[in-house]
Amino acid sequence: MKVFKFGGASVKDAAGIKNLAKIVSGENGKLVVVVSAFGKTTNALEKVLKLWFAGDKGYREHLEELHSYHSSVAGGLFSRYDQAVSRIDITFSGLREYLESLPRHDFDHEYDQIVSYGEIWSTIIVAAYLELVGLKAEWIDIRGNLITDDRFRDANILWNESTLRVRSIFNFMDKDIYVTQGFIGGTVSGLTTTLGREGSDYSAALIANMLDAESVVVWKDVPGLLNADPKWFPDAVRLDEVSYREAVEMTFSGAKIIHPKTIKPLHNKNIPLHVKSFISPDESGTVIKSEITQRHGLPVFIRKENQIMVSIMPRDFSFVMGDYLSRIFCLFMQHGIRVSLVKASAVSISVCIDDDRMKVDSVMKDLNPEFNIVYNENVELLTVRHYTAEAVNKITINREILLEQRSRNTVRFVVRKTGQE
Ligand code: ASP
Ligand code: MG
Repeated sequence: MKVFKFGGASVKDAAGIKNLAKIVSGENGKLVVVVSAFGKTTNALEKVLKLWFAGDKGYREHLEELHSYHSSVAGGLFSRYDQAVSRIDITFSGLREYLESLPRHDFDHEYDQIVSYGEIWSTIIVAAYLELVGLKAEWIDIRGNLITDDRFRDANILWNESTLRVRSIFNFMDKDIYVTQGFIGGTVSGLTTTLGREGSDYSAALIANMLDAESVVVWKDVPGLLNADPKWFPDAVRLDEVSYREAVEMTFSGAKIIHPKTIKPLHNKNIPLHVKSFISPDESGTVIKSEITQRHGLPVFIRKENQIMVSIMPRDFSFVMGDYLSRIFCLFMQHGIRVSLVKASAVSISVCIDDDRMKVDSVMKDLNPEFNIVYNENVELLTVRHYTAEAVNKITINREILLEQRSRNTVRFVVRKTGQE
């Protein structure tokens, strides 16, 4: 069996879902179809949540917009009386009712209960449409099967429990296709959790691992993995084959095409990951796997925006590399901050992290008693793998470089954002 994952861009309207059905019908074997929320639904739900959390009734308008958006997608696929349409209405009513009360839990906890609706709506519609066109498809609620801890917004998978449940529910006894949600999971006690933004790729990889899938295909609006973001370099070219190692390095450095956590579960079972275009599904795309037959040798450009560089120095002028190092990183971990670059000297350490205000402020508060802290805001992290002098020049020209780190294969720069791009 295979796992197909469709992201928001591929299912943003009725035409997208018809296209999905065509791609899925072209596949003869057994399939798990992992779907994320339609279009920009997750962003819209985040807005609903933030307004509601702040006590602003303006959330209602956004929620009604989301309802009419989903009703109009469904309207392009089913008759008004279809069961899928009423299921959508029922789930919207459920959310409306939930939001009538004041928040009962902290922000992250509420986030997962609310923002997860996007995937519920999208999968109800997709599963019903696949059935309508005659496929033996079934909707699965992943929240009772992919079991996680209760670290809301960044939940960790409980592997044993999840594997047992996933294997028993996706059993292909009397169905050929299962449609399920990406991005979300559930705790043993039945609370909804999420796996981090853009986490549907990761969900697909987890399910593939647990079911020993033959391959995973992530359907995108680009022809595969490119050697740069085409919005940055329009002359970017497709990489036909990429090793797991290379893919992990790329995603860690900020390549947005697949979620960073996706590779490990696939690598561990040696399951190839294809990145293909839903616009031209017959093209081969990129395959990510363990052994690659040809080395492309092309420089790969990766840009991680919205970063902040923080330099941390023990106030008492102690060496930073001893106990302080573990203390600093332990705090980062506790606050859920991922460090994308580290550079240490005797008495200071500089790190590049995502500029997530709330998290940065809270970790700084904890560090403050013992450390002097200096920030550089509005920076970005530029990485070139397989660099050449020309490639380096291309990205650093006219940039203010705050930090540089070079190995044989990879060079990374922390630069100030120019504002013109
Ligand atoms: N819908 C979620 C998001 O937009 C998950 C995903 O798309 O992978 O972050
Ligand atoms: Mg999405």
